[in-house]
Amino acid sequence: MSRGDARNNVAQDDAGISDQQFSSSDLRGLYRNERENFQINAVRSGLWLAVFAYILFSITDIILIPDVSAHTIAVRFAIGIFVLILFEFAVLRSKNRDVLDSICAIAVVAGYALWLIFAAQTAYTENFSYYMVFGSIFMMGANLFFAFRFEISIVSSALILNCFFVSLFTLHYSWSYIICLGTFYISCFVFTSYLNWNLNLERYNVFLNALEAKKQQAEATERGQALLRLSRTDPLTNLNNRRAMDDILHKYWSDWVEHGKSFSLVLIDIDHFKKFNDHYGHLRGDYCLTLVAAALGNVVHQYGGSIGRHGGEEFIALAPVQHSEQIAAFGEAIRRTVEDLALPHQGRRDRTSVVTASVGVSTPRPGTDVKLEKILTEADRALYLAKASGRNSVKYFNISDIEESDLNDRVAKLLKEAIERNLVSIAFQPILNVRSGTVDTAEALMRLRMPDGTEVPPRFFVPIAEETGIILELQYWMIRTVCRKVLSQYEFLSVSINISHMELKTPGFVDSVATILDEAAIRPDRLIFEITERLDLERDSEILAHVQDLKRLGIRIWLDDFGTGYAGLSWLRLVDFDTVKIDQTFLRDCKTPKGRTMLGDISRLVRNCGPKILVEGVETAGQMAVLHELGIDQAQGFYIGIPRPVDQLFSTDSALQILQDEA
Ligand code: C2E
Ligand code: CA
Ligand code: CA
Repeated sequence: MSRGDARNNVAQDDAGISDQQFSSSDLRGLYRNERENFQINAVRSGLWLAVFAYILFSITDIILIPDVSAHTIAVRFAIGIFVLILFEFAVLRSKNRDVLDSICAIAVVAGYALWLIFAAQTAYTENFSYYMVFGSIFMMGANLFFAFRFEISIVSSALILNCFFVSLFTLHYSWSYIICLGTFYISCFVFTSYLNWNLNLERYNVFLNALEAKKQQAEATERGQALLRLSRTDPLTNLNNRRAMDDILHKYWSDWVEHGKSFSLVLIDIDHFKKFNDHYGHLRGDYCLTLVAAALGNVVHQYGGSIGRHGGEEFIALAPVQHSEQIAAFGEAIRRTVEDLALPHQGRRDRTSVVTASVGVSTPRPGTDVKLEKILTEADRALYLAKASGRNSVKYFNISDIEESDLNDRVAKLLKEAIERNLVSIAFQPILNVRSGTVDTAEALMRLRMPDGTEVPPRFFVPIAEETGIILELQYWMIRTVCRKVLSQYEFLSVSINISHMELKTPGFVDSVATILDEAAIRPDRLIFEITERLDLERDSEILAHVQDLKRLGIRIWLDDFGTGYAGLSWLRLVDFDTVKIDQTFLRDCKTPKGRTMLGDISRLVRNCGPKILVEGVETAGQMAVLHELGIDQAQGFYIGIPRPVDQLFSTDSALQILQDEA
């Protein structure tokens, strides 16, 4: 950029450079300000040096004009001392550059004029005529030695020139001398003034260049910062991205390790976000993420923390909250913030219809194997638990989770050898035909015990068996055992078996079941498969096809846990179920009139679709009465009979008996 451009484009303010455009008068103003940032010591040392040289010339006074030297030397000292005092005084009062420069200029002019007055009275006229030449040094001082503004220089050097000519004409020198020395002085004046003008121009240009360089540097710094911000920001939500959060986590971590400052790490996952995208489209999905991100940002900042996007629909927050109540409040505030947004989510098909989040919280714990990665894994684990416990909830990692994960491994190992070591068994729970009052069906429930006899609850081992794939083998074993040992023996009985999605996805499953039935010579309609509503059937045409094949084979299909998942109604539309098992939570809610109406409505709805109705979890005579009132077909629960080995299914000390006895 040329200097001209620089003059128009230079942008600056010294406290912070901005992008303003400046006029040339603005620039002059800035230049003057810049000149004010001078070093006082530089001017001071210039003046001291000049005074020293001025006094040193006393020697030439003694040699050339000894008769008046006492006066001239006195003048030199007087002016020198006076000027230095004046200068220091001015420095104390104000540090204005022009004031200080003017003092120096006055010193130069006065130093010349006063010396001239006394020196001109010498009788050594010839010597003095030579000595006059040195007057030009004052002019050089005014124009070149001090860095005066041009105006100050020109005025002071012009005054010196004047003094010279006044003395030249009053002392009656010859014309040749006047012409010679006068021309010399004038040339000196023109020449040094020109140099001064050039120097000032140069100084101004140096200032402009420096300004331009400063501007470019500021722009480069700004660009660098913008790039840095970009590389650390998630473009969609404007929150920190994963990399930035990693750095922040490292900072929190080192504060914890070095100074014991604890903190909380929170992982936040939007529930059923994939379904949100499927239902509303990706644009709305993105918009939802930005709204959630902004709301989360507010709440996390209130706790003095940082938040970022961890990936997809997952966020990560870090905050210096340490005490358990504070941690609990923080986790809950995050969960509530998302729920309170009340963003509609009709695609999730569970009982909630707004966007919610699952939240997992962990805090660093002192221990031997302190590792940063661990706290993330622990938050992940807590998040997993939050999702597993129905979502829209907060879970905090604690030590018992670690024990649980150890247990998981132990159970997975146990399951592998369960059949061989005879650790699995089947319990049968009677199902009452409400109209006839007889038990003609039982649900087969898998039981697992550890070698020491401890029972492992199915809600714990079934998911592990499914995760590890062992469920397949166990389930075949179960179907085989039910057919060979139960159905063949109790000819009036039908047995329902819970089938997991793994079997329904396995090619050849239907054929294998057909073979088992064939071999045991069992009528297929005595076997019932319960399929839980929690499966998302619509998305899996493979499962649907297998269900239809099983039905064609003659096996009865029941819909289990109706009302707990998100697919209940679409299941009813897709499959012709023989029976729908209404989940026990509905019966429990029957204590209130609202809950009772709900159960009535649900049973009417199911009946209108065709299937029979079974209600699970009947525990009291009162509940049984409700079922009678609502005309429910079948009932199951502790009131009718607890799950037990098949040979005790019809024994006299049935659960019904036990419960009645207890009452
Ligand atoms: P589910 O299919 O809903 O089974 C009914 C559960 O309710 C059983 O729990 C049963 O013992 C319990 N129950 C029955 N009557 C009552 C009652 O009146 N009150 C209460 N509170 N509970 C009652 P269980 O045996 O612990 O089984 C839990 C779950 O494990 C089952 O829920 C089922 O989803 C799964 N499961 C059990 N056996 C198998 C199996 O062989 N295969 C598969 N895939 N899952 C199984
Ligand atoms: Ca069941
Ligand atoms: Ca059930």
